[in-house]
Amino acid sequence: MQGEHCLFVVSGPSGAGKDTVVARLRAAHPAVQRTVSATTRAMRPGDEDGVTYHFISTAAFEQKLAEDALVEYTNYCGNYYGTLRSEVEPRMAAGIPVILVIEVEGAGNIKRLYPGATTVFVMPPSLAELERRLRGRGTESEEKIQSRLQRAGQEMALAANYDEHLVNDDADRCAADLWAVIERKLAGK
Ligand code: 5GP
Repeated sequence: MQGEHCLFVVSGPSGAGKDTVVARLRAAHPAVQRTVSATTRAMRPGDEDGVTYHFISTAAFEQKLAEDALVEYTNYCGNYYGTLRSEVEPRMAAGIPVILVIEVEGAGNIKRLYPGATTVFVMPPSLAELERRLRGRGTESEEKIQSRLQRAGQEMALAANYDEHLVNDDADRCAADLWAVIERKLAGK
């Protein structure tokens, strides 16, 4: 499909800091946009409906699936998350670079659907640092933290499938590295 080279998929385990990295990149390069996914998970402090996610009910999510309004979706730690077609295809058609911050299963599905997309895996500096960041957020129960740590291990094992790999030991430096990837791909290299 036209404009696939404008799609950048960023994944990494929960706590790798990918949201911060993408926010820093977008502050420096506002022409790069970011999709807002639909999710059934509960809002966390700091979340804003329509900005961090579209927070919807399971019934509403299933309705979107039935309408083919999602280009990919997954069940992550007990909740649905999905990328809306309306967030992706108009930007591709207009040639606007756009970042999808999604987990590994979704990333694989996007790459199958749009082979010209670039997948980028953001690694935490270490698993110990990842656990420290997850706990430091103080927003999740111990059970949820354990579930996210287990999922982190599974996700890191799939990092090799990604086109590009970055380590987030410093968010600004990692954002600059991500921008270098985007600039190169937009230039067709
Ligand atoms: P969180 O609950 O921490 O906001 O997100 C949990 C995981 O779901 C993160 O890895 C995040 O990148 C991923 N995620 C967010 N939106 C989507 C989406 O639309 N599709 C998929 N496949 N994963 C998503």
